[in-house]
Amino acid sequence: MKRDGFDMRSMIRPDLLELPGYVPIEPTDVLAERLGIAPEAVLKLDGNENPFGPSPRALEAIGRERNYHIYPDPAQRKVREALSEHVGVATERIVCGLGSDDLIDLVMRATLSPEEGVINCPPTFGMYPFSTEVAGGRVIDVPRLESFALDVEAIERAAGDAKLIFVASPNNPTGNLMSPGELERLLATRLIVVVDEAYIEFAGRRQSAVTLVEENENLVVLRTFSKWAGLAGLRAGYGVMSPVLASVLMTIKQPYNLTVASGVAMLAALEDRELLDERACTICGVRDDLFRALGEIPWITAYPSQANFVLCRLDGVDAVEVQRRLAERGIFVRHFDTSMLRNHLRISAGRAEHTEPVVRALREIGAALGR
Ligand code: PMP
Repeated sequence: MKRDGFDMRSMIRPDLLELPGYVPIEPTDVLAERLGIAPEAVLKLDGNENPFGPSPRALEAIGRERNYHIYPDPAQRKVREALSEHVGVATERIVCGLGSDDLIDLVMRATLSPEEGVINCPPTFGMYPFSTEVAGGRVIDVPRLESFALDVEAIERAAGDAKLIFVASPNNPTGNLMSPGELERLLATRLIVVVDEAYIEFAGRRQSAVTLVEENENLVVLRTFSKWAGLAGLRAGYGVMSPVLASVLMTIKQPYNLTVASGVAMLAALEDRELLDERACTICGVRDDLFRALGEIPWITAYPSQANFVLCRLDGVDAVEVQRRLAERGIFVRHFDTSMLRNHLRISAGRAEHTEPVVRALREIGAALGR
């Protein structure tokens, strides 16, 4: 029976009722059904996913595991120990989550009181402002420079009003890394500096900030198994940080956030590092070929990338129309139209054989649109 007079809207946090929400990508079967084609015919280059899938050892380990009826280890012991060896930091500094999205949310919830500021440097990953608002914090946008480098001086000026700063390096969707000098200046602001290294394996682990965590109490590094290890659908990520913060995240996280399946897959993937590194290397080659081929199309400006995707600016053609026409051919890419990224597309690097059809389709669509 419906209970009259109960206004559910009035019970909900007013700021959440207004929240625009994160715009996620859609799964392959949904895209295929919309087009009326087989899921295998979809060329999915919109989610920066790994075109080689998970490591065979991870798939085998998930199939072999029998304890799915038993709750996972809330202390994530085995995985944290394996990651400690992988990263070269103490286990007490590591926290695992359901993707790095989980860690972004946990860091915010552990540190932000209502209305405290989080510096966000657009164009960048949309989860930072989204999670800030869900956590009741306040987003302070400090846009990147035209080169997509951080505006460090503006960040220094804004720092007094903030508690956290999030920087993706390599950045999504622009593909560029933060320099060691820039990181040093961010750390000197004494904010909590969260460096999101979701794509670091495509830039080379030497570029990672993780070696600086021990000497910088205010540095947090986030990593994921979604890209390098091809486990985006399973959800597996981790953070490396001060033991004080790690212990609070371990306390406030959902006790069983890391599933049994995610745990066994992460352990097996770490044992299959060599294969995953080789695949990452292949993907980097595809990315560089894609970048060169896109650069030869006169109406496209492609930006150099250290990640597994290439951002492009389109001139004289409507990016939405190009995206729509690519989709008609079963090719899915991501579209951006923000004040800093007018008329842009981001194309993920697939397998080597995927580059030619995308580039050919773009040339044909350009010709059909009078370019
Ligand atoms: N950080 C960045 C910069 C990303 O681009 C993404 C995924 N698109 C994530 C984090 C989230 O990754 P995960 O799948 O580990 O939640």
